[in-house]
Amino acid sequence: MEICTALIFFLFGIIFGSFFMVIGIRLPQKIPFISERSKCPSCGYQLTWYDNIPILSYLLLKGRCRKCHWQISSLYPLTEASTGFLFALCYMQAGSPAELLLSLLFISLLIIIIITDINYMVIPDKLLAFFLPVFILLRMIKPLEPWWALAAGGLAGFLIIFTVILWNRQGMGAGDMKLMAVLGIVLGFPQIIATFLLACISGAFIGSILLRFGTIQRNTPFPFGPFIALGAILTYFLGDPLIQWYLNLFMK
Ligand SMILES: [Zn+2]
Repeated sequence: MEICTALIFFLFGIIFGSFFMVIGIRLPQKIPFISERSKCPSCGYQLTWYDNIPILSYLLLKGRCRKCHWQISSLYPLTEASTGFLFALCYMQAGSPAELLLSLLFISLLIIIIITDINYMVIPDKLLAFFLPVFILLRMIKPLEPWWALAAGGLAGFLIIFTVILWNRQGMGAGDMKLMAVLGIVLGFPQIIATFLLACISGAFIGSILLRFGTIQRNTPFPFGPFIALGAILTYFLGDPLIQWYLNLFMK
């Protein structure tokens, strides 16, 4: 029964992931999400419902436009599958309905930000402004322990990036700073510090691989938001054991 419900969350996640991709591509360009049908960016072919089935259409069309064979970004099936997987994980981990809702919204925000930051190097203010009051409300229903961890997390998230920007003007921006403040409210303190460290480690790791294979050049601007998102996801699901393990390294 448990597995069946997790599977339903997975399928919903895939469908939402497909919608988040549309939001992530359209929001920074100010195109309405729903009223306009998706088109092939290369030939303008208007996608039918059977071109739009998450993951399946991509596999059946072998990642190409039906009409002009333009290569579709693998970000589409990847986003859909990851959202499905994470939604199922949210369901399995949540201890209460409020925590489940919070975790689903948290993942939704992070997935959309990964897409906008990879494609346009922006973290839209509108998106943060939409999620912030909902997160605060849900954190009042399902508070962190201790109660002040919410404010400390938000403040610490803001200050870490603020310090980095003051110290070294490149690499991180105001968008990253606001994002970390919002995530700090959900994750709390010291979890938000773990998020930042995991973002730096994964950014350095993936950045060095991309440099090695010539995908990016040394001076290519590099979005940091996707790594913050990755760090936040790891902290949300594994944070407490991870922090405990890290502290134990020094206690022995
Ligand atoms: Zn086309």
